[in-house]
Amino acid sequence: MKVDYIIVGLGLAGLAFVEELIKANKSFIVFEDDSQTSSLVAGGVYNPVILKRFSPVWNAKEQLAIALPFYEHLEKKFSTTLDQKFVIKKAFKSLEDQNNWFSAFDKPTVAPFLDDKLDKKTYDGVVGEHYFGNVKEGGRIDTHKLVRSYRNYLLENNWICFEEFHHHDICFHQDSVTYQNFTSDKIVFCEGFGLKKNPYFNELPLEEVKGEILTIHAPKLEIDFLLKSTLFVLPLGNNRYKVGATFNHKDKTSIPSIEGKDELVKKLKKVITVPYTIVSQSAGIRPAVKDRKPLAGVHANHKQLNVLNGLGTRGVMIAPTVAKNLFQHIEFGMELDPEIDIKRFN
Ligand SMILES: Cc1cc2nc3c(=O)[nH]c(=O)nc-3n(C[C@H](O)[C@H](O)[C@H](O)COP(=O)(O)OP(=O)(O)OC[C@H]3O[C@@H](n4cnc5c(N)ncnc54)[C@H](O)[C@@H]3O)c2cc1C
Repeated sequence: MKVDYIIVGLGLAGLAFVEELIKANKSFIVFEDDSQTSSLVAGGVYNPVILKRFSPVWNAKEQLAIALPFYEHLEKKFSTTLDQKFVIKKAFKSLEDQNNWFSAFDKPTVAPFLDDKLDKKTYDGVVGEHYFGNVKEGGRIDTHKLVRSYRNYLLENNWICFEEFHHHDICFHQDSVTYQNFTSDKIVFCEGFGLKKNPYFNELPLEEVKGEILTIHAPKLEIDFLLKSTLFVLPLGNNRYKVGATFNHKDKTSIPSIEGKDELVKKLKKVITVPYTIVSQSAGIRPAVKDRKPLAGVHANHKQLNVLNGLGTRGVMIAPTVAKNLFQHIEFGMELDPEIDIKRFN
C-alpha cells in the first residue's frame, strides 16, 4: 500500500504532525506501541511564564497563537472539552520572591502575562504567607483525553497500527522507503524518549527527565485556579487535584515509584494544610534537550527520515508550532527555525 507518510509514535508530537497531514490531504499510517507515556500522564498545563525565574517561555506569544486554535479545532473535531482556562497563582516564598515578581514587569515579553495587583486573599487550606501573584492566559489541556480520542479516531479510519515499529526493517529506495507492506515517501519519528532505540537519530542529545504526578481527593480544598508553589496543584473538579511533578534525571522507566510519591507528599505538606487521599499515581519520561529547544529535522544521509522530538516540559505549547514548521520544511522547503533544527548538533 502506498502512503505519503509513516508516523512513528502518537503522543502530542505525533498527533500535531498528523493534523498537518490531514489538513493537506496527505495519506499516512501511524505506528504506536504504548512504550512511552509522557503525553498520557502530563499535567497538560500551558503557562507563558517560567515562574522559577519570572522569565519568558521561549516564543510563548507565538506558540500560544498557534496552540490555542489548534486545541479548539480538536475540541470541535471530537465534540468535547479539552482546554480548561484558569488563573495561575504563584505563591511567593519570601519577600525577595515578591520583589523579583515586580522586577519582571521590566521584561516586555513577560509583563503582559502578569497581573500587577498582588492577591492578598487567604484560601482555606492553602499556604500563602507572602501573598500570590496572578499569571494570565494560562490553562490546561486534558492531554490524556486528547491522545485517547485521537488514537480512537485514527483507529476508526484504519490509520493506526498498535505495534512496535522496528527500525531495522526499513528498506530504502531512491526516493521512498518500504516498511512491511507500506511504501512511503517519508517517515517522521515522533517517539518521545523512545528515540533512544532509533538507530538513525539516537545520537541526538535527548535526555530523560522522569516525571511523576499524583491525583488526590481533598474534600476541604475548594480552589479553581492552578496553584504554583514548590509544586503545582491543579483543579480537576469534584475536589480532585493533580499534584506534580517530580524531575528525576536518573530513572529511565515510566513506572511510578515510592520515592516519587514520598517526594510529592513531602512537598505537598508545605503547600496545603487540609487532609487528602491519594487516588492515583502516574509517571512518564519527558523527552528533554539541554538547550530546552525541540529537535526537528531531516536525517543527514537518508532524506526520507525525519524527526520531531525534544518537547521537554512544554509539549502542549510547543508541539503544534514545531509540527507545522517541520511539515512546511519537508513539503515546501521552508526554512526550519535554526533554534529547533537538529543541524545545530552537527
Ligand atoms: C509527569 C509529567 C508532567 C508533565 N506536565 C506537563 C505539563 O503540565 N505541560 C506540558 O506542556 N508538558 C508536560 N509534560 C511534558 C509532556 O508530556 C511532553 O512534552 C510531551 O508529552 C512529549 O510528547 P511526545 O509526543 O514527544 O512524546 P510521548 O508522549 O512520549 O510520545 C511518544 C510516543 O511514541 C511511541 N513510540 C515510541 N517508540 C515507538 C516505536 N518504536 N514504535 C511505536 N511507537 C513508539 C510511544 O509509545 C509514545 O506514545 C509532562 C510530562 C510528565 C512526564
